[in-house]
Amino acid sequence: MLAKPPMEFAMGERVRLRKPHPCGSYEWTVTRLGADIGLKCESCGRYVMLSRRELEKRLKTKLPPLSHP
Ligand SMILES: [Zn+2]
Repeated sequence: MLAKPPMEFAMGERVRLRKPHPCGSYEWTVTRLGADIGLKCESCGRYVMLSRRELEKRLKTKLPPLSHP
C-alpha cells in the first residue's frame, strides 16, 4: 500500500474546515506555507498556524477562488 500523498496547498487558496471558528466562519485563506500552514479567517481576519497534518484532518473541502465578474 502506498501512503497517501500529502495534500498540496497554494498561497491565497481558500479552504473550508469541518468546524467553525469561534466567530462562526468556516472559510479560511492560506497565507503562509511551510512545515506549518498559516490561515487567515475570512470573517474576522484572525491568523492561525496549523501543521499540514492537522490542516488535512480539519479540512472539509477546498473552495474556488473568489471571482469578481
Ligand atoms: Zn474568525
